[in-house]
Amino acid sequence: MLQVLNPATEEPVATVPAATPADVDAAVARAAAAQRGWAAAAPADRARLLRRFASVVDGHIEELARLEVTEAGHTIGNARWEAGNVRDLLDFAAGGVERLNGRQIPVAGGLDITILEPLGVVGVIAPWNFPMPIAAWATAPALAAGNAVILKPAEATPLTALRLAELALEAGLPEGLFQVLPGTGPVAGNALVEHPGIAKIVFTGSTRVGKSIMAKCAGQVKRVTLELGGKSPNIVFADADLEAAAAAAPMAFLDNSGQDCCARTRILVQRSAYDRFMELLTPAIEEIVVGDPSDERTQMGPLISRAQLDRVRSYVTDDLTGIRGKAPEGPGFWFPPTVLTDVPEDAPCAVEEIFGPVAVVLPFEDEADAIRLANATEYGLSGSIWTRDVGRALRASRAVRAGNLSVNSHSSVRYWTPFGGYQQSGLGRELGPDALTAFTETKNVFISTEGPAL
Ligand code: NAD
Repeated sequence: MLQVLNPATEEPVATVPAATPADVDAAVARAAAAQRGWAAAAPADRARLLRRFASVVDGHIEELARLEVTEAGHTIGNARWEAGNVRDLLDFAAGGVERLNGRQIPVAGGLDITILEPLGVVGVIAPWNFPMPIAAWATAPALAAGNAVILKPAEATPLTALRLAELALEAGLPEGLFQVLPGTGPVAGNALVEHPGIAKIVFTGSTRVGKSIMAKCAGQVKRVTLELGGKSPNIVFADADLEAAAAAAPMAFLDNSGQDCCARTRILVQRSAYDRFMELLTPAIEEIVVGDPSDERTQMGPLISRAQLDRVRSYVTDDLTGIRGKAPEGPGFWFPPTVLTDVPEDAPCAVEEIFGPVAVVLPFEDEADAIRLANATEYGLSGSIWTRDVGRALRASRAVRAGNLSVNSHSSVRYWTPFGGYQQSGLGRELGPDALTAFTETKNVFISTEGPAL
């Protein structure tokens, strides 16, 4: 049994049965049967059903958002956005069903075409930090491309996923096409990874588990997309609008209590602007409203679990100095917004993903030094560049090794632009114009136009 707790109160919310390998076997058989009919259906019918699914989700935004607040501790504003994101992803993917075009390639003596075929049954393994959007990032395009999906949500957050599966049936999606199997990673997750009937795994989670999944997929040459950890830089050049950069820096790492793979947790500030930037950043951190996530004014809620709280605490040792915000006392997994200063560049808090409301500020000398520091990481997921110099913004955007950069903003993820990591932040891309293609095989067919010899 999985025990779901409310992270803001530590009160039990629900218990959910954990899937066994036998449950996975049965789910794969059901999914394979459903997928055959789904792939054979007219594209317009598949698109229509996905749009209907989007519309049913739209009718349940508030309910889904409340569930997310209860099981994940997300602020209600974020949770509404997340439920809306599921709707938008389904709509966007539905628009792709009838545009999943192959190509016609010039050849001598015939016609050459490519056909994009669905993979079959796709396994999606999701983390607890953004349970709804991350599940939908893979599920929506995979379904649209003609696949069936089995989703294993994280142990701590199965409830929104289970509700989405019910809403899919309500919308008329065929039984078995989209199934949700809550369970533990080592049992249910691993059974999906090892199952020969699963054609692809989309894994979002820690780099450690991602590597082990990739190794296991190799045994079957199973397709895999990995969305892993990050330690993203927020580079502030002295010529930037410092007021704007300092005002935006807190939520760039505190959103979702820092449990965000794109969190800009390494704030790199040009030395000549360092003191002024810190003067502006300090009140901005201290003013962040931390508390009851269901309160509309709250900017930051609790961490997901005691284990996560202990992990975050282990990085913020007593010898470290910096800025500390406020957090509630008492029950709940609370940790205050924290910015650490005067830390060595290679300190654990400066190089490891903490996944909590903690950032470090490191000074740099010039552009070359900024790029060196920004790239001094095994990760490469996202980052921000603050400058008024367009040339510098473009040079830095090219030089920073990361999949998702924003200039003079901390742009959030958009479902219609590509997303994914360099280096150990992942493999493959999700979202964007090519989202559906990641769930297809390309088949090349040559058709001879030569007639019989006369
Ligand atoms: P995690 O790796 O512990 O777990 C993620 C999922 O994998 C869970 O569903 C878990 O049950 C499952 N799992 C665990 N062990 C498994 C195994 N042996 N076989 C199969 N499945 C297994 O990660 P987490 O703590 O839930 O999430 C936090 C991590 O996710 C952070 O590192 C964060 O950066 C990363 N993340 C990345 C992205 C991205 O898009 N790059 C987005 C969100 C989170």
